Amino acid sequence: MESLNRVTISRSALVHNFDLCREQAGGAAIMAMVKADGYGHGMVECARLFAARGAAAFGVAEAVEGATLRRAGCDLPIFVLAGVVPQTAAGIVEYRLTPVVVDAAILPELSREAVAQGVELPIHLKVDAGMGRQGTLPAGFMDLARAAHSLPGLRIEGVMAHFPMSEDRESTNSAEVLATFRRAAADIAGLVDGRCCLHLANSGGLFYVAGARLDMVRLGIGLYGYYPDGAAGRAAASDPLLQPVMRFATSVIQVRQLPAGAGLGYNHLYTTTRPTTVAVLPVGYEDGYLRSLSNRAEVLLHGRRAPVIGRISMNLTLVDATNIDRVRVGDEAVLLGCQGAEEITADEIAGWMETINYEVLCLFGRLNHREMTD
Ligand SMILES: *Cc1c(COP(=O)(O)O)cnc(C)c1O
Repeated sequence: MESLNRVTISRSALVHNFDLCREQAGGAAIMAMVKADGYGHGMVECARLFAARGAAAFGVAEAVEGATLRRAGCDLPIFVLAGVVPQTAAGIVEYRLTPVVVDAAILPELSREAVAQGVELPIHLKVDAGMGRQGTLPAGFMDLARAAHSLPGLRIEGVMAHFPMSEDRESTNSAEVLATFRRAAADIAGLVDGRCCLHLANSGGLFYVAGARLDMVRLGIGLYGYYPDGAAGRAAASDPLLQPVMRFATSVIQVRQLPAGAGLGYNHLYTTTRPTTVAVLPVGYEDGYLRSLSNRAEVLLHGRRAPVIGRISMNLTLVDATNIDRVRVGDEAVLLGCQGAEEITADEIAGWMETINYEVLCLFGRLNHREMTD
């Protein structure tokens, strides 16, 4: 038995997006970001596909995700971007993960583990070039590199930073971050044996910031078919466009004819103003279809838009199907994606939810049964 709520992931769209991003990246290597279960699209399945198209590395948040990916057979470098702490050091070395080192506190532990397990552990150092989140400020970056350089078992392989607002094409911030990053990397060049891999750009950095590609780009949202600045980015982009990868559909479970003046659902958030055909869907906030979509969202039925009416509850959503002919139990309702000539994008849903496309994809993808399709 399967849930009536289905998330499907399009392989051909993933391939299209990867190839498009690879072209834009020029010669820069691609680290495919597969954290958050591949932004809700499935970490292992997406990683396999990206590896086959030429990804150079993968990025995850916590070490445990990297271990899962390694056990699934991934042979490429896997970067751990958050959660490099003493209790994960042994696992990081054991699973040959590449730790992103944000300050010197973790270095002795990583060194000890690398020596104990008889390996030379490649590490990447993170400079806070303006993100103001993780990393070491430029003033202390040389000390961090010296500390890493002085310990056995460790090899500085790369330097990274992160953009705080690369999706904002108008901002001058990204050029400043890029300049700060380059200076910090140049400062420590003497402490890096061999070639140092510099990486700074996320999808916004690749799409919108000149000169940010460097040696490697770390791409997430673009691979999953969305622009980091949402609908505005899609509208401003030139062909070929990124293709949304995720579709979220369900089935009508009841069709009701209600008179004018009927209060619907919790708190009677909506009251019918005319005889109304209501289609009931078995989807709710449990499935990531958040309450903030109540009385706001639209779904696709028979290739046409139908408004969500009333309060979304844990497992039920009501839509006004009065203007759509012959809606029946079992008909497909599309919450995200295409049906016929109509499309609802994660950008549109993000607008209704007052959030960003990233959050919509993570919610729908992680909370529902998911399948890959061609
Ligand atoms: C998630 C993440 C990325 C990818 O960002 P997108 O905007 O999805 O391309 C890049 N770098 C770091 C450090 C990240 O955490």
